[in-house]
Amino acid sequence: MRERPSSAAAFERAKRSIPGGVNSPARAFGAVGGHPLFIARGEGPYLYDLDGQRYLDFVGSWGPLIWGHCHPAVQEAVEAALRRGSTFGAPCELETELAELVIAAVPSIEMVRFVSSGTEATMSAIRLARGFTGRSTIIKFAGCYHGHVDALLVAAGSSALTHGVPSSPGVPPGCTQDTLVLEYNDCQALADVFRQHGDQIAAVIVEPVVGNMGLVEPTAEFRQELRRLTLRYGAVLIYDEVMTGFRLAFGGAQELYGDHADLTTLGKILGGGLPVGAYGGRRDIMRQVMPAGPVFQAGTLSGNPLAMAAGLATLRLLQRQPPYAYLENLGRALQNGLQQALDTRRIPGRVQRVGSMWTLFFTAEPVTNYTTARQADTRRFARFFWEMLDRGIYLPCSQFEAAFLNAAMTPQHIAQTIAAAEEALDILA
Ligand code: PLP
Repeated sequence: MRERPSSAAAFERAKRSIPGGVNSPARAFGAVGGHPLFIARGEGPYLYDLDGQRYLDFVGSWGPLIWGHCHPAVQEAVEAALRRGSTFGAPCELETELAELVIAAVPSIEMVRFVSSGTEATMSAIRLARGFTGRSTIIKFAGCYHGHVDALLVAAGSSALTHGVPSSPGVPPGCTQDTLVLEYNDCQALADVFRQHGDQIAAVIVEPVVGNMGLVEPTAEFRQELRRLTLRYGAVLIYDEVMTGFRLAFGGAQELYGDHADLTTLGKILGGGLPVGAYGGRRDIMRQVMPAGPVFQAGTLSGNPLAMAAGLATLRLLQRQPPYAYLENLGRALQNGLQQALDTRRIPGRVQRVGSMWTLFFTAEPVTNYTTARQADTRRFARFFWEMLDRGIYLPCSQFEAAFLNAAMTPQHIAQTIAAAEEALDILA
């Protein structure tokens, strides 16, 4: 493993004042060992670390940077907004413009409310669904992550019908007792739970394509059952598109699959690299949000003009020059090249991908849920991660995270990544 002394020193210093040296745990490289890179700057598809090394960035700040780093249109929009003032605590037209663009992009969204993170978006959507239905129970799926909302920080119980147990100290059992956890893609368990608890279920929240256990696709049957059962029992179907929104298509997973959720949560790309989240959906539900309705939700910096400007610039670019076909081609070439590299070396592994989101799982079987994801060889992944990093390829530092392509990448970058993986896998084989 290459030495990175400046990052090592910066990490030691950070650990003295910041818990674990990072402001979000996934950044700490805990799952792969060693210390994280400290970043000096980004440019297009690249990150540059404090030691002056350049890396092809497949993390993209965990999803937001679909145009790569420092796209001039986004930079200029933020700079122009900054000259007019950083925050007003009063409405400004940028908020309405971005709301109109979101509504145009996602047909199921008739009204939208901006917040400052994906966590706030899912937390608010859950509260709204409960307020709207007058019910308490929510269903989530093992391995799906929806931010650090108390009610959603839940580990699966021993059976499908066990109520959730907190997966973090500090979350009282009372906060998770109304959360039911099911296996992703398990239609039978879903139908069973609705049969038993249907009249108590306020909402089902789901990542329509999962990024947070590595890349896992929903089956068509699973998506259809989600819609059918929530409609039948009057529960709110929440698509958490914080990761997939504006990434899999301009209208997110819902456009890709032709689905129609009741509420959608957004973040990441929506903020163009600045802190933004949003929740939106059916007008009759959204009209329950204060001050239009009784369900409380607020934020000092919600709809912040700099964040709105970054989001508007990013989304307008996506609308004018959709990169999705291009990203699909890059993604297909990468997936084929990596899968072939695994197969020719007889290394058990699967490259799973939807559009520009992908994961190389070190496991022979298809990964369809959290149970199969956990069968992946995490030690082999850690070695692969470091070999790739030493070859200038920056991947998510966990087997259970999706990697992202961005539109600043070229076919040459894909070829470079496959060549690096071939060398790395030769060492692992
Ligand atoms: N929902 C999904 C699907 C996510 O991937 C994330 C973050 O990774 C969140 C919600 C939480 O977003 P944030 O980290 O902005 O709070």
